[in-house]
Parts: sequence; C-alpha cells; structure tokens
Amino acid sequence: MIKIHKSSNIPSVLTTKGSVETANLINAYHTNPSHPFSFDQSIYGHSTVKKQLIKEQHEKCCFCEAKFLDNSFGDVEHFRPKAAYKKRGASQLTYPGYYWLAYDWNNLMFSCEKCNRSYKKNEFPLNDETTRKFHHAHPNPLEKEDRLLINPIEEDPSHFITFKEEVPIAINNNLKGQTSIEVYGLERLDNSRLEHLFYLKSILPYANIDEANSVDVNEAAKYLKISTDDVVDLIKNAKALFNSAAKDSAKFALCVRCKFPYLPTI
Ligand SMILES: [Zn+2]
Repeated sequence: MIKIHKSSNIPSVLTTKGSVETANLINAYHTNPSHPFSFDQSIYGHSTVKKQLIKEQHEKCCFCEAKFLDNSFGDVEHFRPKAAYKKRGASQLTYPGYYWLAYDWNNLMFSCEKCNRSYKKNEFPLNDETTRKFHHAHPNPLEKEDRLLINPIEEDPSHFITFKEEVPIAINNNLKGQTSIEVYGLERLDNSRLEHLFYLKSILPYANIDEANSVDVNEAAKYLKISTDDVVDLIKNAKALFNSAAKDSAKFALCVRCKFPYLPTI
C-alpha cells in the first residue's frame, strides 16, 4: 500500500446526481434512522468515476498494490462502508453505515475484488468507539475517528507497514498496521511478491553494466551463454526496471522500496 494522491477534479456525476442522492439519504435518515438505505451503484460506480480512480491509482488496487486489470474489472470501494459496518471484534453488522459518504469522492477508491469482497468487506474497526461519527449530523468529527485501518488517501502507509522480503510487518507492532494487514488480507500475496522480488533481484544487477562497453558486454554474453545483442537488451531492460520498479506506478511499490531502498521513487 502506498499513499494515493487524489486529484481535486471530482467526477461531475458525484457532484450532480451524487449530491441529490446524498440529500435524499439525509432526509431518509431524519424520517427513519433505522430504515434500510438504498444506494445507486450507477453513480458511485459510474465509468467516469472508475476511470479516474484507476488512472490516479496507476491501475493498482488501493490496498494490495496488485495490477489485476488483465484478469478482472475491480471495484469502486467505499473506505467507510456506506450501508453498515463491523466494529472491532464484532460478529454483527451495525446499521446504518456511513450513508452520507456513499457518493463522496474522498471516500472512494479502486480496489481488487478480493481485497474488497473477501477481506475488507464491511469492516471498519475503531480503537475507541466513542470517537465514531454515527450519522451525518453527529458532533464527532470524521477526521478524529480513532481508526484501526490505514487510509491511503489520508496517510502514508509506510509509516505503519514495512516489508521483510515479501512479508508485510507492522512497524513496532503498531495496532493500525497489524489490523490493516489482517483486514486487507495483505499476507495472501506473499507468493506474488516473492516472485516479483526474485525477478528484480535477478535482473537489476545488469543495470550496472555499460552497454556501450564492448568488453563488459562480451564478458556477460560469454557468462550467460547468450548473444551480445541479447545482453544489450537485458541491460536496457534492467536500467528501465531500475528507474521504474519502485515508483508509485509500479506493482507492489512499498514492498520493492523496502527491499531496494536505493531505487528512485519519483
Ligand atoms: Zn487488492
């Protein structure tokens, strides 16, 4: 997980139809707070919303940093669950959820289906339940909620989570890091990260060779038993990887940064 830099360019469907629907939800709460709320997926899941989230998140899941668009469509995820939420350690859902944030740009992220549907789902644990904002007019300020989940829009996940090789670890056993690793299911990608780190470890050393130096290129070709043209391609590929593998646009960027702290991140 890395920090997400959201643009202030809010998709218009959220500020038009979304604003109307938010006002309707607030009215519905005043009429009957326990009435089940319904939400319009065609607004928060609108193609313009999804496209912008995907672009701003470099086609990666907001939680696991996998690049998965070749295999599935992904979800527009609500950081604060819109319909109902689960408190820390609870087995039951609490209603209503954060209904007034259903169409709020700053509550929307792009995630893979596994992170959203199999792991995070409706979980929204707080360390201190008295800080929860229970409804749109509740006096508790949203930003003061004592969250146990890292919000990559608001904070830098690297302050809470590091990696030992492919394995995510909460820095100094901090509770927010621990809870986030568990709730987002980050350990399930250990094999994919291990494979990626192995690939980088095997290729990056070639970035140190000067492809214009024929002596070094010939030596590498002899050692690898490949042609000098292939060695030059390998070096160019390694240099490109050196410059891109730890950037925000790279998959598993936080894990890569922890393993190769000398790689450029911008
Ligand atoms: Zn994911």
